Amino acid sequence: MSEILDKSFSIKKDLIKMKPQNLQKYISDHYIFNYIADSIASSDIQAIAKEQEQCFLDITSFLGVAPSFKIKYYFLDTPELVGQLFGDNQPCNGFADFPDEIYAVYNKDIKCVGHHEDAHIISHIINEPNSNFIVEGLAMYFDKTWWGEPNAKWVKTFLQNDKYLHIRQLLDDKIFLSKSDKITYPIAGAFTKYLLETYGKKLYLEFYKYSGHQIADEIERIYKKNIDLLEKEFILSL
Ligand SMILES: [Zn+2]
Repeated sequence: MSEILDKSFSIKKDLIKMKPQNLQKYISDHYIFNYIADSIASSDIQAIAKEQEQCFLDITSFLGVAPSFKIKYYFLDTPELVGQLFGDNQPCNGFADFPDEIYAVYNKDIKCVGHHEDAHIISHIINEPNSNFIVEGLAMYFDKTWWGEPNAKWVKTFLQNDKYLHIRQLLDDKIFLSKSDKITYPIAGAFTKYLLETYGKKLYLEFYKYSGHQIADEIERIYKKNIDLLEKEFILSL
């Protein structure tokens, strides 16, 4: 799921009464897939289940967590429908509704499956850091790519084209949310990969459990390095 414009927030509205009536179910080891009869999702459901079970295994084994629930997927035909369910009526390919539901577009052109939303749901068991950059970074780390290209390749292109945004800025949610996800998401994913592969999973997960709002300070405390220095190392590693 590299082409995700997602909205990973909890929904306040009563979704139950908004759900389509003609949903069918397919249950696998860790998922309950809900889809509309005779839809494209309905023809692909066994392949979808196989792919998501592999994603589940990748994410849970990496994070060392075992969800006590099955993840409920709802496949819908259009971004408009998903946006309606989200509640803001803005077209959207998929979103995670904590603790255990994912709403996703599945049609001829958009197949919103893969690691991304599952990573949001599963990592939420550990914590939900107060930073979109961090949360999206972990989901994008599992995705590895964005619009078919590795996250790091995008970052190199942004650096060459003067479109790169600095980590310290992106840690500010106001800035992160004001910029295009076409830029912010791959930077988040590539930086997360750099932290994980350079400094290890143990340190990263220790940081991921931080529930305060001083995210930049916490990174510097955990990694014992100034963020600007970490960023320089990250850019050199690309
Ligand atoms: Zn996301």
